[in-house]
Amino acid sequence: MTFSDLGLRAELLRAVEAQGYTVPTPIQRQAIPAVLEGGDLLASAQTGTGKTAGFTLPMLQRLAGGPRPGRREIRALVLTPTRELAAQVGESVADYGRHLTLKSHVIFGGVGQQPQVDAIRNGLDVLVATPGRLLDLQQQKHVDLSKVEILVLDEADRMLDMGFIHDIKKILRVLPEKRQNLLFSATFSDEIQALANKLLERPAMIEVARRNTTAELVDQAIYRVDREKKRELLAHLISQHDWHQVLVFTRTKHGANRLAEQLSKQDIPAMAIHGNKSQSARTKALSAFKTGDLQVLVATDIAARGLDIEELPHVVNFELPNVAEDYVHRIGRTGRAGSEGQAVSLVCVDEHGLLKGIERLIKRDLEKRIEPGFEPDPNAKPEPIENGRNRGGGGRGQGRGNGQGRGQGGRGRNEQSQAPRRRRGGGGRRQA
Ligand code: AMP
Repeated sequence: MTFSDLGLRAELLRAVEAQGYTVPTPIQRQAIPAVLEGGDLLASAQTGTGKTAGFTLPMLQRLAGGPRPGRREIRALVLTPTRELAAQVGESVADYGRHLTLKSHVIFGGVGQQPQVDAIRNGLDVLVATPGRLLDLQQQKHVDLSKVEILVLDEADRMLDMGFIHDIKKILRVLPEKRQNLLFSATFSDEIQALANKLLERPAMIEVARRNTTAELVDQAIYRVDREKKRELLAHLISQHDWHQVLVFTRTKHGANRLAEQLSKQDIPAMAIHGNKSQSARTKALSAFKTGDLQVLVATDIAARGLDIEELPHVVNFELPNVAEDYVHRIGRTGRAGSEGQAVSLVCVDEHGLLKGIERLIKRDLEKRIEPGFEPDPNAKPEPIENGRNRGGGGRGQGRGNGQGRGQGGRGRNEQSQAPRRRRGGGGRRQA
């Protein structure tokens, strides 16, 4: 099957070709015809499946083919949880729409609003936005959403996790009743189900196999190591194997900063990316990483969500995530769109419970390795892992931060606490 078999118009096919895509991914094969038909859509797909083109291409086709209002009105609205994802979706809209005469713009919090207000005033067909800033602008009457024909909620589960449900509901109230709704979510909690029931009318349902749960393309390994030796082992692995473009996950912002500093001191260029960094610092770090100038990017889960870094060869879990599903999201950064990737996790005695949880989720045992010179102390005692989440619990949807700071209206919760892991003597509680 090719893209032209999907009924896309020539301008879009040219743009797709320029991206170098020849074969539509499974979600694209299913979503494109469904969206072109004009009905609602409920799609279960995560980043890395090609979902962005899956909704962007048919959305642009519908806008280009439909009756054009006298002046430009916002006819398609795409909501995303994070600035990075908004920027990436915005880029896709611009790339795929380059041969059409539609205008699009991206708005998110944390940056000045005036350029966004100006862009809206000049007239747009497509608006890509994070909910907080959009609502701010809507309430200030800078944006008119009364002509929206297509609404896309991208990574809806993330938006709910990040506490955006009230903003989304307020936005829904100012949209026209009659419109096409597309809902994309990696997971289907009761909350998502409730939103889908309220929002969607007889939706087409699409489910693509979660990538990386079987992870054929990702070589996954565990290095057992003492907690105090992790940094040294990481520097050793990077140098030894001459790894470039390494995305490293830490559990906290503080841990990300500290690790990036320490690696840099060892002549391994590294920067941290998380919710406390300014937008310009995040953009700078990301673009240096993408171009290959920056060897290591250290990120928290929230900051890394939705980052579109193609063909990322190495992901390292410096610490295992508290939520097993985040492991799948993290290693989903590698081996994307057909390229192979390697995911390595540094696991100390504190994290055995977390590791078991991950292996249960992905339904396989991960290969365990010990690097010579970094043999873990067999008598090491586990210590409790400080959760760092503000509202206790630590399950999905609890205290999960938005990593966006003010500008998303301060509505979200904070990203994981900056407190370093607290050590308590002896055994004690471990997270499972
Ligand atoms: P997404 O899931 O939308 O974040 O896309 C994941 C990655 O796959 C992006 O880097 C896209 O550029 C790439 N991609 C999307 N569609 C295709 C395709 N049909 N063939 C190859 N790569 C694709």
